[in-house]
Amino acid sequence: MTQLISDRRDIEFVLHEQLEAETLSGLHENFADFNKKTIDLVISEAKNFAVKELLPANKEGDQVGCTLENGKVTTPESFKRLYKIFNEGEWLATTEDPEWGGQGMPRTVASAAAEYFNGANFPFMMYPGLTQGAGHLVEKFGTPEQKRIYLKNMFTGKWTGTMLLTEPGAGSDVGALTTKAIRNGDGTFSIVGEKIFISGGEHDLAENIIHPVLARIEGAPEGTKGISLFLVPKFRVNPDGTPGEFNDVICTGIEHKLGIHGNSTCSLSLGSKGNCIGTLLGAENKGMQAMFLMMNEARRLVGFQGFACATAAYMYALDYARNRVQGKNILEFMNPDAKSVTIINHPDVKRQLMTMKVFVEGMRSLLYFVQYSADMALHAPTQEEKDKYQGFVEVLTPIAKGYVTDRSFEVCSQGMQVYGGYGFIEEYPMAQLLRDCRITLIYEGTNGIQAMDLLGRKLGLNKGKPIMDLFGEMQKW
Ligand SMILES: Cc1cc2nc3c(=O)[nH]c(=O)nc-3n(C[C@H](O)[C@H](O)[C@H](O)COP(=O)(O)OP(=O)(O)OC[C@H]3O[C@@H](n4cnc5c(N)ncnc54)[C@H](O)[C@@H]3O)c2cc1C
Repeated sequence: MTQLISDRRDIEFVLHEQLEAETLSGLHENFADFNKKTIDLVISEAKNFAVKELLPANKEGDQVGCTLENGKVTTPESFKRLYKIFNEGEWLATTEDPEWGGQGMPRTVASAAAEYFNGANFPFMMYPGLTQGAGHLVEKFGTPEQKRIYLKNMFTGKWTGTMLLTEPGAGSDVGALTTKAIRNGDGTFSIVGEKIFISGGEHDLAENIIHPVLARIEGAPEGTKGISLFLVPKFRVNPDGTPGEFNDVICTGIEHKLGIHGNSTCSLSLGSKGNCIGTLLGAENKGMQAMFLMMNEARRLVGFQGFACATAAYMYALDYARNRVQGKNILEFMNPDAKSVTIINHPDVKRQLMTMKVFVEGMRSLLYFVQYSADMALHAPTQEEKDKYQGFVEVLTPIAKGYVTDRSFEVCSQGMQVYGGYGFIEEYPMAQLLRDCRITLIYEGTNGIQAMDLLGRKLGLNKGKPIMDLFGEMQKW
């Protein structure tokens, strides 16, 4: 069976020939070292780590999953070593500021690592992925004190991060949330509420878990206008920076799911003993705007998760079709002595593989372009260019999530078809890929919500300038 997960040549094509990623090195001092040689080295290292370390743990993650006992979640045994060496390799905050423990890598280049890592084991990758996103929120909206306490610990993976939006009565409609924040008079808030479906909400991989929590300060307006964002650690932090007293964040249950078994999906009770303390992150009642930073990044990450399942499915299916012998060549159907051929010779199998291939290549090109646009939105030489690329990011984010994950699931399904009956059997990789991929159409805003975001907010943004700019860019190509 192939261990390739992704096609290196295709990755290089997008990075070097489509995007000319090397040119980013002139745009910011952090990027200065990212010449072609360094970019190729990053691809090689990411591929090695994915194939040698992440992939072998994927099956165990699926079969063993997570368990809950007395409020404590145990992750698959192999994940503990994996988490340690992942952090030692400094893979968690590749794109973050070196001042806080990041690598300062262009997002465009980090895309190659995201593709390999998520294709090899995306349930595991959710732990560091959410940590990076939560850390980024602290970097962007945190006070100097919050940054000092949390950032390095998060970007080095010593502590993990999550995102706490969903409640039983508030899923797609986040504005319906009922979690309360009560002023304590010393600048902190007591948090009380129930959150559900929290990825990595509780686990045994790190010594502390930092939860960005959406809640409503008492007396704040109803709906999204009255939502604020808080930082709530599992263990409060001692003055010397070590984890201290338990902060009354109790895991009351974990979900039994169709896929991503290696990632814990937790129900969390906050402040059931009246002892959960949080600090405001950003301004009061501006929690949704702040959280959108993390949600938009997470939406693009979910696009990568779905796509990585699709590219792995394609690579497995291609390899399988080249080796599975079944049936005669259609041109020799009249010949009783004709030898059986590998199934890749059958036009219908070829059709399926080629369909998978075009979707995978198109989605890679799209996703890497969005990350390239995110780099350019920050570092392009002129403000006009920065605005143009930021517009691309805005318009393309719901597409990178919604369109890509819809297509990715179809690609995984076609991959299963190429395997025939074996595709349906858990011993082979297709069943897990299809199951794991399915969640990407649902979480981080269902794909129906992405469609509404695209139509309702993004197409009309700035009087339609971003979408017209994008059409212009496509025209040039
Ligand atoms: C494995 C897993 C991990 C998750 N991880 C996290 C996490 O880490 N943090 C977190 O906060 N949440 C998390 N979630 C929650 C996830 O984001 C929500 O499940 C998702 O946003 C949908 O909310 P819901 O389940 O309440 O469905 P609902 O909102 O009830 O939606 C049901 C259906 O109705 C549609 N619908 C709803 N509203 C509208 C509308 N206005 N117009 C048109 N159609 C609509 C939806 O598209 C969907 O098809 C996770 C969920 C799962 C299953």
